[in-house]
Amino acid sequence: MHRESPNSFGIYCRRRYIQVIMTHIDLSTWRVKAEHAFQLKNLATLPTDSETSKDAENDEWPELFQKAADKLEKLQLMLHAGKSKGLLLVLQGMDTAGKDGSIRSVFSHVSPLGVRAEAFGVPSEEEKRHDFLWRIHRKAPALGEMAIFNRSHYEDVLVPRVRGWIDKSVWLKRYQHIANFEALLHDQGITVLKCYLHISKQEQKKRLQARLDDPLKQWKLQGSDFSDRQLWPDYLEAYQEAMAATSSSNAPWYVVPADSKRYRDLFLAELLAHTLEKMDLAFPPKSFDLSSVQLD
Ligand code: ADP
Repeated sequence: MHRESPNSFGIYCRRRYIQVIMTHIDLSTWRVKAEHAFQLKNLATLPTDSETSKDAENDEWPELFQKAADKLEKLQLMLHAGKSKGLLLVLQGMDTAGKDGSIRSVFSHVSPLGVRAEAFGVPSEEEKRHDFLWRIHRKAPALGEMAIFNRSHYEDVLVPRVRGWIDKSVWLKRYQHIANFEALLHDQGITVLKCYLHISKQEQKKRLQARLDDPLKQWKLQGSDFSDRQLWPDYLEAYQEAMAATSSSNAPWYVVPADSKRYRDLFLAELLAHTLEKMDLAFPPKSFDLSSVQLD
């Protein structure tokens, strides 16, 4: 009788289980090139209709999102079952860019088993007594896990820089520490993806106003939301430099046009499904001969 090797069994299962994803979005356009200076203010916050050059909204997005989300669900199950690889998604963006919202909508389609969302706020007194990566590393995904960081180690090259608490030599060194840390995760089998949710200042105004007006959303508001808004150009400069300095083949940055919530979610679902697909995941080999089982 032909016996499949554990490996060929995994590959066979993967082929039968999931078809290769065709992404609707040209993800490579939005990938930040390593060491390539760019200006965020010149990048669209909504996809543009190629014929009219106007910002485009598309009725097909929810359906495409559902397809990508279905694939994501299956691939995440393989990641969880296989326990040989992991995935870290870092989400950054200005206040109201949609970090919480996209976590809610994109990850409501995957099993909570093996998926973990972590948020990083102002460092505690204890955290401040450690190096800036200490609190981050403890929350990194294990093999078999997918972790989503709502804010991350990138805050440490943004807030203190913009607020003038550190000088350039410190944030340049931090870029290096970050690159080394992400390379370490990569060598451990963790794929690192980083997304900057890109909204316009005008869109932020609408979303902040909606929070001010809605008693159910007011809890989300903080004084820093308004003072950070005053520092918008400084934040964009800090973001674009940090992204150019730390985007690599092992840990790429993507700029996600995020003025449309539906497009943002479609982008993230397709990017995640596409990335998991490329990770060549497989179910673990059978631990015993299933044909010997006889149920009574
Ligand atoms: P969010 O604004 O993401 O909904 P919070 O209301 O908890 O979450 O706010 C988190 C705040 O913590 C943000 O203003 C963010 O800039 C700040 N923060 C996070 N990490 C750091 C850091 N390392 N240094 C300074 N501030 C930080």
